[in-house]
Amino acid sequence: MKTVPEYFGSLVFDDRMMKATLSDEVYRSLKKTIDEGARLDPAVADAVAVAMKDWAVAHGATHFTHWFQPLTGITAEKHDSFITPAPDGRVIMEFSGKELIKGEPDASSFPSGGLRATFEARGYTAWDPTSYAFIKDKTLCIPTAFCSYGGEALDKKTPLLRSMEALNKQALRILRLFGNTDVKCVRTSVGPEQEYFLVDKAMYEKRKDLMFTGRTLFGAKPPKGQELDDHYFGVIPPRVAAYMADLNEELWKLGILAKTEHNEVAPAQHELAPIYTTTNIATDHNQLTMEIMQKVASRHGLVCLLHEKPFAGVNGSGKHNNWSMATDTGVNLLTPGDTPYENAQFLLFLCAVIKAVDDYQDLLRLSVATAGNDHRLGANEAPPAVVSMFLGDELTAVLDAIENDAPYSGGEKTVMKLGVHVLPRFTRDNTDRNRTSPFAFTGNKFEFRMLGSSNSIACANIMLNAAVAESLKVYADRLEKADDFETALHDMIKKTIKDHKRIIFNGNGYDESWIAEATEKRGLLNLRTTPDALPCILEKKNVDMLTSHKVFTEAEIHSRYEITLENYCKTVNIEALTMLDMVHKEILPAVESYTRTLADTLTAKKAAVAGLACKHETATIERLSQLTDEIAAAAERLNGAVMKLKTVTDVTKASEMIRDTVLQKMAELRVVCDEAETLTAESFWPYPTYDALLFGVK
Ligand code: ADP
Ligand code: MG
Repeated sequence: MKTVPEYFGSLVFDDRMMKATLSDEVYRSLKKTIDEGARLDPAVADAVAVAMKDWAVAHGATHFTHWFQPLTGITAEKHDSFITPAPDGRVIMEFSGKELIKGEPDASSFPSGGLRATFEARGYTAWDPTSYAFIKDKTLCIPTAFCSYGGEALDKKTPLLRSMEALNKQALRILRLFGNTDVKCVRTSVGPEQEYFLVDKAMYEKRKDLMFTGRTLFGAKPPKGQELDDHYFGVIPPRVAAYMADLNEELWKLGILAKTEHNEVAPAQHELAPIYTTTNIATDHNQLTMEIMQKVASRHGLVCLLHEKPFAGVNGSGKHNNWSMATDTGVNLLTPGDTPYENAQFLLFLCAVIKAVDDYQDLLRLSVATAGNDHRLGANEAPPAVVSMFLGDELTAVLDAIENDAPYSGGEKTVMKLGVHVLPRFTRDNTDRNRTSPFAFTGNKFEFRMLGSSNSIACANIMLNAAVAESLKVYADRLEKADDFETALHDMIKKTIKDHKRIIFNGNGYDESWIAEATEKRGLLNLRTTPDALPCILEKKNVDMLTSHKVFTEAEIHSRYEITLENYCKTVNIEALTMLDMVHKEILPAVESYTRTLADTLTAKKAAVAGLACKHETATIERLSQLTDEIAAAAERLNGAVMKLKTVTDVTKASEMIRDTVLQKMAELRVVCDEAETLTAESFWPYPTYDALLFGVK
């Protein structure tokens, strides 16, 4: 059996493979493209294509695909085989540089939000050489960006790469001001922690709600939930352990650094965390991870649920986006340094993030807004929908001291002067960890915790990178003009703290009183739902910022707004229709059938023994009959709302109607159905209950 180091990355055309299969000259040229974004010579592209194809064919690949991330949120691929007919009737395997660099998939069936009329449906995919090609299902997958012929982004990778470039540009300006001339580029890194649920596949297939919507739309509370806290970090059950082992192996072969796995808070909930890497690669890897999690589950007779809220009453699933900025020389810009000068630089980058998160709370919030995530954020679950930052007591004390020119008691007890005094090392204190903060500093990185488990991490990182690039730009504009750099720096850090300290909150984010304080005293935004959050992207300050850094064009912003809202509307509409289907075809017939059995029993008992009261049967029949009527009436009301929704053509209005009406009607229908479930014999209930689903995988 091969050891992990022997098979790690075996399905990836990585640096090792490039070195081994390319000539020195071609390798050097390709490296220049990867590291510095230099244009790729067509002859080099041809040589790389041939080496890639030979390697892929040797590993059993028959096809290649440009692998991309359209705005559907999942990945897309169209397979072409390598075969080319030879004159003697045989085939040879061919792949050219042109095919490597550029593809032309028909773009008409992907959402474009009006960016591309169907009559000019052509789109093109362009190779992202910084993310390695890999083999999946006998297909060589080439990570690509996806654009319209006019050059507008139709995917998530293009703006992500642009946001990384924007941050790089501004961060370099700052580093130069600190006299740093050897750094060539600044990249952001991300380690996304992925939560998920595992349920038994046979049970899953009996539930239309899980199959069509990824979450349960009905289900009475089981006698036991997560109240004993006995699942978190608990012993991993054998079936789950076998799944995780298999999953790790698949991910490792693809060069994905799967590192940590454990049980989460809710029963049947688990987490997987990789080691962090450059943001665009981390994004590709997270998309692949989600796909492979589902594929491997199927092999184990399981289904991996990535929905943000598969079960009411227990925790939902999120994704923690651990984020930092680092130089190509290996310096993490969010690590306090050893010298006064390095410390000042650290504080400036820290302030840039504080300013960014405060100025663009709305963009961060809307970057994670989906119908699924609305069940977590702002719905009695952590983190809340209000964006705030946790810095910890130590760092907050340092910032306080700077703001007030006061002595910092944790250090040398002198007034902190930037560029003169060394900061204390901020210990990564695990006891001091705040688990409720949406945006927490954890020693040398920030953890953005609002992402939903099924979200692509691209959206959150696009906004985060762009917002931080903007802070850095404001700083660089001012500092480059300053006569006295150190004084200007000190003043600017002070000003940032004064202006933006409202976003810093080290307390408990679950607390009801926090929401009141945040919104009433501090003026922070509380954008509870997707229809509340999304329109903020169209505000002038946001459009100006995003377009000035060339992250999006104005047309792209509008198209994304439309697509995201449309997705919200469609998602909830499918949920409503699924509920109606289940009610009419499964729930009502089951309740009727059980009531009938009870009625038969009642009649039989009364016939057998004269004068029997049969109180239980009578009461149950009575309540179930009432519930039958209530269910039918609630279903009718939901149906009415869905019909009305059909007549609304404006997507903004439709989303508001869903928020204000449809979701309420769905909740009302659920309540009566769940009560009926508690009164009906399990053998009559048409699909597996919460007990079975949550505790069924041993
Ligand atoms: P924590 O206990 O704070 O959650 P871990 O060490 O478990 O920290 O890391 C959580 C995630 O953060 C992992 O994916 C890890 O690779 C990632 N991470 C660690 N350092 C950085 C960094 N500098 N930049 C981005 N992500 C990081
Ligand atoms: Mg964490």
